[in-house]
Amino acid sequence: MAHAKDLRFDSKCVHSGISDYEFGPVVPPIYQTSTFKFESAEHGAALFKGEAEGYIYTRMKNPTVEAMENAIAELEGGHKSLGCASGMAAISTAFVALLQSGDHVVCSKSVYGPTLTVLETVMSKFGVEATFVNSDIEEEVKAAMKPNTKIVYIETPANPMISISDLEAMAEIAHKQGALLVVDNTFMSPALQQPFKFGADVVVHSMTKYLNGHADVVAGIIVVKDEEMYLKMRKVLNQLGGVIDPFNSFLVHRGLKTLDVRMKKHTENAIEVAEFLENHPKVKWVRYPGLKSHPGYETGLKQHTAHGGMISFELKGGFDAGKIVMDSVKLCILAVSLGGVETLIQHPASMTHLSMGAAARASAGITEGLVRLSVGIENIKDIIADLDQALSTIPS
Ligand SMILES: *Cc1c(COP(=O)(O)O)cnc(C)c1O
Repeated sequence: MAHAKDLRFDSKCVHSGISDYEFGPVVPPIYQTSTFKFESAEHGAALFKGEAEGYIYTRMKNPTVEAMENAIAELEGGHKSLGCASGMAAISTAFVALLQSGDHVVCSKSVYGPTLTVLETVMSKFGVEATFVNSDIEEEVKAAMKPNTKIVYIETPANPMISISDLEAMAEIAHKQGALLVVDNTFMSPALQQPFKFGADVVVHSMTKYLNGHADVVAGIIVVKDEEMYLKMRKVLNQLGGVIDPFNSFLVHRGLKTLDVRMKKHTENAIEVAEFLENHPKVKWVRYPGLKSHPGYETGLKQHTAHGGMISFELKGGFDAGKIVMDSVKLCILAVSLGGVETLIQHPASMTHLSMGAAARASAGITEGLVRLSVGIENIKDIIADLDQALSTIPS
C-alpha cells in the first residue's frame, strides 16, 4: 500500500496510522494492557535508556494509542501528536508544558469556558497572567501583547457567535513577539482547516467532538510541529498523567475513517439549516460562517475549505421562546457538546449559562434567545421539518 503521506486527505482518513500487527489485522488491535514484558534485564535497561524501540508502560506509550496519534499528526499536517484523556487534559497539559511563572498569555474571550477558567484560576496560581481579547479584532490582540507574552491562544470558529479569527494574522502577531500561536481546532477538524498551514505552532482538539464524531468518547489531543516540542510535551504529559487509554484511542481511530465524509455532510446540512433559519420569521439573526451575513465570511474563506456544522441563532421571543423550542424538538437532541452524527440543540440562557444570571450573560454575549445547534448528518428534510415544527410552537 502507498504510504499515507502520499495520499489525498479522504484516503488518509482511511489509511493513516495503520501498520503491520501480528496475525495481519486490518485495523490496530486494542492493546488493553497497562504494562509490557521485557525480554531480559538487558532489554529492560535498553528500553529505559531509549536505546531500544519498544513499550514499557501504557502511560508512557501504547501501540493502540500510538496508531491513533500517528493518524492525527498525519491529518493535521503536524510532526507528532499526544493523545490525552480529554480536550481539557490536552489544553491544560499544553499550558503547563509551555508556560512558567512570570509568563503572559493573550487568549481569545470566546474560547471554550473551562479553557478560560484554567487560565484565570489555575495557571494564575503559578504566576501566569492572561489577558482576554476579541481575537477577531486584530488591533485588540496587538494591543494586548507584552514583552513576556509566550502564547497567543485562539479558537476559530468560536462560541458563542461562531466568530472567525484570522489565523495568519494571529501567527504574525505572536511570532513578532517571540510567542507561540496555539489553536483549538475542535470546531473545524483537519478535514476543513489545518492551522499549521497558516503559522500555528501547536494545535489542540477535543476529540470528543468531530474527530471521534460519535458522541461516545471523551478525549483530546495535542499536535506539534517538531521533535523538540514533542519531547517537551511528552515529558510533561507522562508526568502529569492525563493520557488517553487504548480503548478510547481505538474508537477515535475508527471515527477518523469517516471524518471527511462526515464533515462534508455536516457542512452540506448546516448551510441549508442556516438559510432556513435566516428566512424564518421567528428568528432574529443567524451566525454561520457560510452565510454572507457573517462578519468573518471573507476571513473564513481564506483558511477553511468548508464551513462546518456549528450554528448560533437568536429567537425574537427571547428566553421564553428558547425554552419552548427546547421542549418542542423531537429529532434534535437537547444536549450540550457537539460534533457527533446526531443533531444537538442547546439554549445557553436556560441551560449552560443559567446560573450566571442575565446581567453576566449579557456582558458575555449570551443573549436570552440564543440557540446553539450542532447540525448532524441526518436527512436535511427531517432536520428542517423538526426545527420548523418546534419554531411553530412559539406563540406569535
Ligand atoms: C468540548 C471542547 C473542549 C473541551 O474538551 P473535553 O473533551 O470536553 O475536555 C475544548 N475546546 C472546545 C472548542 C470544545 O468544544
